[in-house]
Amino acid sequence: MKKFLSMVMVGVMALALSGAAFAQAPAGYVASKGGEKFHTTECPVAKKITADKLVKFATPDEAIKAGYSACKTCNPPPSADALVVTKAGGKYHKQSCRIVAGMDTANKVYYKDVAAAEKDGYKPCAICFKK
Ligand SMILES: [Zn+2]
Ligand SMILES: [Zn+2]
Repeated sequence: MKKFLSMVMVGVMALALSGAAFAQAPAGYVASKGGEKFHTTECPVAKKITADKLVKFATPDEAIKAGYSACKTCNPPPSADALVVTKAGGKYHKQSCRIVAGMDTANKVYYKDVAAAEKDGYKPCAICFKK
């Protein structure tokens, strides 16, 4: 029985890991009730919001719909499917790209779609836009 349980645990962990690798959006977004900005959960400002004032959103679209705008410190995406570029880089990425995970928050610039990014001269990333 014990052996069976540990095998189940390994299976669950493998599932959780593969799920994380394919996750589209980051963990979530938060805002302060009565505030103006919404944040990533990693933002130092977000960490100061007290539990009784904390509002949670699954996507940036939800936060914007609720009347919040993006925080300048943590620079959250303006929508769940916005593309990401860096000012110095020449490629645009999906938010789920591993290149995006390594980017400096302050350097991220968002585009609402491929057309907008290409208009500014950006090219698709070979990793996240691989055909
Ligand atoms: Zn923030
Ligand atoms: Zn990419």
